[in-house]
Amino acid sequence: MMTQPADCDVLIIGSGAAGLSAALELAKQAKVVVLSKATLESCNTQYAQGGISAVLSEEDSLDSHVEDTLNAGAGLCDPDIVNFTVSQGPERIAWLIEQGVPFTQVSDSEGHNSYHLTREGGHSHRRVIHVEDATGRALVSTLSAKVNAHPNIRLLEHHIAIDLITGTKLGLSTSRCLGAYVLNLKTGKVTVLSARFVVLATCGASKAYLYTSNPDVATGDGIAMAWRAGCRVANMEFIQFHPTCLYHPEAKSFLISEAVRGEGGKLLLADGSSFMSRFSSREELARE
Ligand SMILES: Cc1cc2nc3c(=O)[nH]c(=O)nc-3n(C[C@H](O)[C@H](O)[C@H](O)COP(=O)(O)OP(=O)(O)OC[C@H]3O[C@@H](n4cnc5c(N)ncnc54)[C@H](O)[C@@H]3O)c2cc1C
Repeated sequence: MMTQPADCDVLIIGSGAAGLSAALELAKQAKVVVLSKATLESCNTQYAQGGISAVLSEEDSLDSHVEDTLNAGAGLCDPDIVNFTVSQGPERIAWLIEQGVPFTQVSDSEGHNSYHLTREGGHSHRRVIHVEDATGRALVSTLSAKVNAHPNIRLLEHHIAIDLITGTKLGLSTSRCLGAYVLNLKTGKVTVLSARFVVLATCGASKAYLYTSNPDVATGDGIAMAWRAGCRVANMEFIQFHPTCLYHPEAKSFLISEAVRGEGGKLLLADGSSFMSRFSSREELARE
């Protein structure tokens, strides 16, 4: 395996926002293969509604976004990571706009257009840029059109990475990751895909819960593969719970936008009594 040329320079496992954007950047100088466990639409990105927070208005500041994030994190955030992520925000949004994501705009009385920014819980400024109430769907369709048209990117839907191949597992002197075993769901065959570099963009494991707003693909495969390959795994206790989901015993659950509560919606038990203050003392979470 070490003596043969790799099937690609970079194998990206996952085709959500993370995988597709990594592919587009890396394909400027590398041959890239992107794996999608099911169809391109079966990812968390497709379901994201509200939008993406970043400092985009002159009244806002990076310091304020950092402060809000640290407050929301209740002392658990790493300030260096928060600083890095917040300061990257405006540039990342500019990149998405450059790719053609049609973020919602508004016109002022003089006919000047600007991006519409909403405000969500925990933010002291309007800083959530969005595409109506289906931001993720717009991201997937814009980025996947670019990925599909790119000569350096091969996109394989219905291909599941089963395990990473490392030098250690093959008894070689290197511990590098050399590729992955991949199951083609259409043929039922497992093949080896070798790569000079492997990127895991497989998202989380929320399907471990009985009720979830996540699609079926969110089974934590990437975390498990990384663990088996010898990576450190951390922060598994941090799971975002959406407080409002539609539940029906015979239908798939889906998120009822948190914007509903932002606009004054109340969470009540069947007898009309309120209960959220039992779970959070924070004002916007406890709102009933
Ligand atoms: C209902 C809902 C609403 C949300 N709303 C917002 C919002 O308003 N704003 C916000 O910022 N965030 C929101 N989020 C969170 C956001 O969607 C995710 O954090 C983000 O999309 C994650 O992107 P990703 O690329 O890491 O993962 P995903 O988009 O989940 O992509 C993971 C990819 O990995 C692939 N994959 C997994 N395992 C394998 C395997 N073994 N082999 C091959 N491929 C594999 C999957 O097929 C998929 O393509 C929301 C999430 C949900 C579920």
